[in-house]
Amino acid sequence: MTTHEFDFVVVGAGTSGCYAAATAAKAGYDVVVVERKDAAEAGHIACGDALKGAANFPDAIPKSELEPAFTNTGVDHGRFEIPQEDTVLDIPIPGELAVIDRWKYGQRIIESASEAGVEFHYDTVVQDVEQDRSGRVTGVRATRKGDAVTYDAAFVVDAAGSLSLLQDAVDFSESTFDTNVDYSQFCSAYREIVEVPEPVEWDDALVFKPTERAAGYLWYFPRTDTEINAGLGFQMNEEPMHLVEDLKRDLQTRSEFAGAEVKDKLGAALPTRRPYDSATHPGYLAVGDAAGHVNPTTGGGIAGAAYAGTYAAEAAIDALEDGVHDEAALWSYNERVMDHFGARYAALDVYNVLSTAVDVDDLMSLLASLPGEQLSEALYAGTSSFGVGLAAKVAAKSFGHWGQIYQMYRTKRVADRLLDHYESYPSSPDGLDRWQARRDDIMDDVYEVTGADAKY
Ligand SMILES: Cc1cc2nc3c(=O)[nH]c(=O)nc-3n(C[C@H](O)[C@H](O)[C@H](O)COP(=O)(O)OP(=O)(O)OC[C@H]3O[C@@H](n4cnc5c(N)ncnc54)[C@H](O)[C@@H]3O)c2cc1C
Repeated sequence: MTTHEFDFVVVGAGTSGCYAAATAAKAGYDVVVVERKDAAEAGHIACGDALKGAANFPDAIPKSELEPAFTNTGVDHGRFEIPQEDTVLDIPIPGELAVIDRWKYGQRIIESASEAGVEFHYDTVVQDVEQDRSGRVTGVRATRKGDAVTYDAAFVVDAAGSLSLLQDAVDFSESTFDTNVDYSQFCSAYREIVEVPEPVEWDDALVFKPTERAAGYLWYFPRTDTEINAGLGFQMNEEPMHLVEDLKRDLQTRSEFAGAEVKDKLGAALPTRRPYDSATHPGYLAVGDAAGHVNPTTGGGIAGAAYAGTYAAEAAIDALEDGVHDEAALWSYNERVMDHFGARYAALDVYNVLSTAVDVDDLMSLLASLPGEQLSEALYAGTSSFGVGLAAKVAAKSFGHWGQIYQMYRTKRVADRLLDHYESYPSSPDGLDRWQARRDDIMDDVYEVTGADAKY
């Protein structure tokens, strides 16, 4: 058995892992990223390839390093196709967005972290963690090509993605780490990279379309005007879909895909839930998909992963400099995540909860009656304000949907209350129980207003 010693062992060479590792290496620490894939395959990750917030990424791996992977920076709106209503809604996308070559992006962030001094150990599957008597995580156990390898470290960063295996291994009984996690709070998704013979007309748009069965959606994201990321997903609390077959069927109905060639196929799970209430445990922090840092309505998780990785490393560096490993020393990480995007994602999750309780056709015809600007605000900002004039316009256009609009209005009010509550996220682990009890009361109101089954 081989044993390695590092200041930080980061499990997973995705976005969150590379940003965490680069941050710690740039501060002068010894960092290893342990990745189960081989060097060529690392960074090849199932994704829709839409990078939101591309203007503004953490400095550990700056935007200039990522730009060579940006293949389409001309997208400025979402195109929502609603076949049931024979309608197409064009909805502006606020801020900068790039469609990227995801594999190239994955390789760029690995190269950049390597240049910052990070070691990468490929072909190494982490299977277990080491904990001392107090419960503190002190390292991980892995297998590389059949050989046992252990890594001892001051801090373990769990960047192993959705439903991280490490979390089954850690005994969290002595910490606040969120274990209220179930596969039903995740989405199963699949995508193909498809080359079409003629340029598509919508190369300035992200195209969305509801799936025929189960609450899910299809997407067509143009990497270029002839290379399209085509995919779909469904929430895992619904009847399972046959993702490959369902995508194929939709592609066959679209004339722009006649004669198209499939270049690549990948599928994975992604969290469509609120962020973990706490992603810290002595000696251990979870980041990115491993801590639910994804916008639960759009499935966008790259930006959240980059920031979470950075914040986690910064908190651990401070703790290391103070010679402490306990949760209180890492707590600023949870606070920064909630403050930056976690509160907003938790409020957006309320609309996901609503979508499990309403009829998809009804929801689509309601959406078709709403103004694009407001939908855009609701999707990305987690809130939306309807003035009286606008409300009157919506009401006139949406005759027959007033019951749903009223339910939407009540849902928005309770989502706003939840957002307010997340703004008082506690400043130490001691306050978490009380904060959670109050939050759970608000969630009870969410289930009552939406008529949905409890998600957590
Ligand atoms: C189909 C699909 C479409 C998506 N579309 C978009 C989109 O368009 N835009 C967007 O912003 N986000 C999108 N997302 C979400 C986004 O891909 C994730 O949020 C983001 O990749 C999370 O990064 P991460 O570093 O946390 O995890 P990952 O990128 O999943 O990285 C985890 C890494 O850990 C490694 N690993 C796992 N287990 C182990 C182990 N036991 N030992 C060693 N290594 C291990 C994996 O091999 C992987 O390299 C999509 C997700 C899916 C599934």
